[in-house]
Amino acid sequence: MLIFKHIKDIEKHIISCKKAGYKIAFAPTMGALHTGHISLVDEGKRRADVVVCSIFVNPTQFNDKADFDKYPNTISADIEMLNDAACDVLFLPSVKEMYPDGFGNPTSIDFGHVANILEGEHRPGHFDGMAQVVEKLLRIVTPHVLLMGQKDYQQQLIVRQLIKRRKMATELVMCPTLREKDGLAMSSRNVRLDAPARKLAVTLSKVLKDALNRLKKKANPGILAIEQFKKLQETPGIDPDYFAILDADTLMPVTANTKKVVALTAAVIGGVRLIDNMVMDVTR
Ligand code: AMP
Repeated sequence: MLIFKHIKDIEKHIISCKKAGYKIAFAPTMGALHTGHISLVDEGKRRADVVVCSIFVNPTQFNDKADFDKYPNTISADIEMLNDAACDVLFLPSVKEMYPDGFGNPTSIDFGHVANILEGEHRPGHFDGMAQVVEKLLRIVTPHVLLMGQKDYQQQLIVRQLIKRRKMATELVMCPTLREKDGLAMSSRNVRLDAPARKLAVTLSKVLKDALNRLKKKANPGILAIEQFKKLQETPGIDPDYFAILDADTLMPVTANTKKVVALTAAVIGGVRLIDNMVMDVTR
C-alpha cells in the first residue's frame, strides 16, 4: 500500500492511475479502523481498480473539543488492517496540510432540512465541518466511486447533496452497517465503553429493531418514535438525544408516498455518544 501525506503527491498518483484507465474508489475515515471500515474497502475492491482510504481526524467537524481530544488514534494497527485488506493507497494528511490557511471557509452550501435536524440539531456545526473536509478530499482524490456507511445515515444524505450541487462525477455507494454479534453497530467510539456501558449499548439496536417490527404491524410512526424514545429514557444509564422515524429519502415525516423508512437514534451511554439507524422498505 502506498502512503501519501501530501496533497500534491497523491494528486500526481491519481492522475497517473486515471491515465492508465483505472477506476478509483474512495473511503474517507477518521481512523481507529474496525471491520465496518474494512467492509468499505472490500466494496471498493469489487467496484474499482484502485482503492484509496484516507485517515484524517477533522477538527472542524467536532463541536465538542473533549470528544476531539479523546478520539482514538491507532494508526499502526490501522495501516496493518488496510494492508491486510489490500487497500492500494492511504492518504494520511496533517491538519496543516488540509487547512494551510486555518479553519475558515466551510462549504457555502445550505443543505437545509436534512442537515438541520437530529445530528444537525444536537451537534451544531458538525455537518458544515464534515462537508468542508469531504469536499476538500473529493477534490483531491476525484474518485469514480465514494463509499460511505449507512451507520452515518444523515452524513451520506448530505454528501449525496454535496456531490449533486457541486456537479461532481462521483457515484456515492452506501454500504450496510456492520454490527457486533449482539447487534451493536461497530464504531471507533465503542473502545471507550467500559464493561457495563458496552453491555447496555446493545439496547440501541434492540429498540431500533423493535421499532421496525412494530412498523411492519402498521404502528403509527410518530407515536412509535415517542414510545421508543421513552423506553431509552427510562433505561438507567442511557441518556438519549433523539429517536426518530422518518422518510428515508427526505428525513421528513412518513407519508402515504414514503417508499423507505429510517429509524434513527443517538444516546450517551457511559459518557460515550453513540448513533445508530435501521432502514426498511415499505413498498413490499
Ligand atoms: P468514521 O471513521 O467514523 O468517520 O467512518 C468512516 C466511514 O466508515 C463512514 O462512511 C462511516 O459511515 C463508515 N462506518 C463507520 N462505522 C461503520 C459500520 N459499523 N459499518 C459500516 N460502515 C461504517
